[in-house]
Parts: sequence; structure tokens; C-alpha cells
Amino acid sequence: MITPRVEVDIDKIRHNACHLVQCLGRRGIAVTGVTKAVCGHPEIAQALLDGGVSGLADARIENIEHMRRSGILAPISLLRPSTPAQADRVVRYCTASYNTELDTIRALGRAALRLKIVHEVILMIEMGDMREGIMPDDLADAARAVIDMPGVVLKGIGANFACLGGIAPDARDMIELNKLADEVETVCGLHLDTISGGNSANLPWALGQVNTLNINDLRLGEAIMLGVYPLSGHRIDGLFTDAFSLFAEVIESKMKPNAPSRSGSARDMQENGGIIDPLRDWRSILAIGNQDTDIDGLTLPTDLASLRGTSDQFVIKIAGHNLPVGTEISLQPNYSALMRVMNASSVAKVVRDRKSRVQTDPEDRYSSYLALV
Ligand SMILES: *Cc1c(COP(=O)(O)O)cnc(C)c1O
Repeated sequence: MITPRVEVDIDKIRHNACHLVQCLGRRGIAVTGVTKAVCGHPEIAQALLDGGVSGLADARIENIEHMRRSGILAPISLLRPSTPAQADRVVRYCTASYNTELDTIRALGRAALRLKIVHEVILMIEMGDMREGIMPDDLADAARAVIDMPGVVLKGIGANFACLGGIAPDARDMIELNKLADEVETVCGLHLDTISGGNSANLPWALGQVNTLNINDLRLGEAIMLGVYPLSGHRIDGLFTDAFSLFAEVIESKMKPNAPSRSGSARDMQENGGIIDPLRDWRSILAIGNQDTDIDGLTLPTDLASLRGTSDQFVIKIAGHNLPVGTEISLQPNYSALMRVMNASSVAKVVRDRKSRVQTDPEDRYSSYLALV
């Protein structure tokens, strides 16, 4: 089969979404399925919906347009604040958007009026991550301004954690977010539909709580796709961590020196005839590089070790045996590797699900190897 390729196990993604929807549903929290790491891949988006998420969200309008063109009708919100120039596209394709700038929201309102629709706005609050968000002290004024704007309605508030600052939210942050929601509701005399408590980094809090206050939404990407807690990398109970596998092919395998050297010293080592040179190892090169993915974010099968990636080649070390040219190696991407690989036109995407299982070649010489990994 073609390499490099990502194989996507739709059943596992659907299962992960469904499991989180159920666990969080018991706590009064709905799941918004975040598709940005998979570039709005329509079959994956559909798996999230089949798993029971209440809506979808993506950071890029292009990805959302792709999902709409593929026939996805569910509510989709734009996570990253848009530019005013994108307002027409945003209101046309997105049910709601997360925003921090009144000028942009005004542009969204004008665009919505032109289309004779109402666009939903969720205000993002800065709560320590140092990325997007209105300062808490300015929230009530911003909310009042949005309420007075034609073409938009204030749907809710949200906060983001651990994206830039790397600090997980805790119970105090959630109490604070809850207070801010109460304040907006009191000051503006309205009910907020959505109080969105963060991304996958907030799952330890959400799953560990009996009382989740008024927080009624989490925006989850990594936890569903990869089945792990983002900050610790630990598996989330009950979830699959191998819904995505990246396959790359061996293009060279040779016994080679272990350290960079000038050509003369490399020859010296080769002439060390008969004696096993501790400074040499079996090394292979895979036809994949940093232009396709984040090489440092790939996990290899246990008998292989990563040496280094360049733009187009990935050098690996093999314990004690050779890997024939043409061998396919299965690699597990982390979130950073996943988002790059899904965005790379050089990497094929192969979707497997129960209905249409990809047929593996029974004559495949390396199937036994693959079965091990
Ligand atoms: C990316 C993103 C998410 C989803 O984050 P995960 O860690 O993948 O769950 C949620 N909210 C915002 C604003 C984001 O940018």
C-alpha cells in the first residue's frame, strides 16, 4: 500500500468520543468535538457526531468550509478569533464563533445582517494561559456591548488553558469562571447557554469532580483523537490511544557508525574487520521527514529507536538485526505530529471503519513484523 500514509480507525475515534460524552454527560458537561488537528476531516468529524458530541469546532474557517461542503449540518463553531475580513465566511458556515475583539464581532454582526441571520458569539476570557481572551475585569462591558450589537447574540463565555502557558486549570479556575458567568448573567439580565470550561487539559478536573458547577461544555480534540491527557501524556481510562497510525517505508538499511565523523575516520571503522565495532549499528532510513510531520512527536515500535529527522528523511536505529528496504514501519503520532501529518498533502489518509475494512495484502512479506508493532 502507498506510503507514507496515516491509517485512521474511525471505530476507535467514535468509541473515544462516545465514552467521554457519557462520562462528562453524567456531570452535566457536553462535549464539543474539536477537529482542528485532523483539518476538519469529514469522516472523522462524522465519527465525533456519531459518538454523541453536541457540536463541532475548528480553529480555521477553511476546515469548517470543507466540513460543510462534505455535507456536515451539525452546529460548528470557529475556535480561533477570526479577522474582520473573514466575517462573511464565518457567519455563512459557522453557527457560532469564539471572540475577543469587539471590532471583529461588529463585523460579524454586519455580515449576519446582510445574510438575514443571527450569529452566536462566545466571549473568550483570559484566565492565565496568556493566549486569546478578554481580561476578566473587561468582560461585563464587552458582554453588554455584544448584547447591543445587531446581528449577533451572546451565547456564552469560555476560557482556554494550557495551550501556551502549559498550566492545567484547577478547581479555583473553574469557580472563577463560574463567578464570571454569574456576573455576566446578572449585569446583562440574560441566561448564558454555554459556559465552556476549556480543552482536553481540563479533563482531570472534570472527571475528578462531583460538582462541576455551571460549567456545561468542554472543547475536546486531543483526548478524543489520541486518548491521552495532554499534559501528562497518560492514557485516559477506557479510551484507545492508537486510532491513528502513520506508516513510513525503509529506503536504506546499513551498518553505520554511531557518531558523525569525517570520511577518513568512518573508513577506519569499516576496516576494523572481523571485530564487532561497538561504535556501529544497524541503521535504517524512513521516507518521511519534518516536512510531513513532527518527527520528534513519533513513537517507534519498541525494538527501534529514533536517531534524527531531517526535512525528508528519518534515521532510526535497530537493535541487532537488519530491516529490509521496503519494510513498512508503524509510527504513533503525538498531537503535534498528528496535526502536521493530517495537513500534509504528501501523506495519504486511509480511513478504516467497520463497514469498509481496508484489506491488508495476505501476501505482505512484512505482515508478521507489523503484527508485532
Ligand atoms: C485547540 C483548541 C481546543 C482543543 O484543544 P485539545 O487540547 O485538542 O482538546 C479547545 N479550545 C481552543 C480555543 C483551542 O484552540
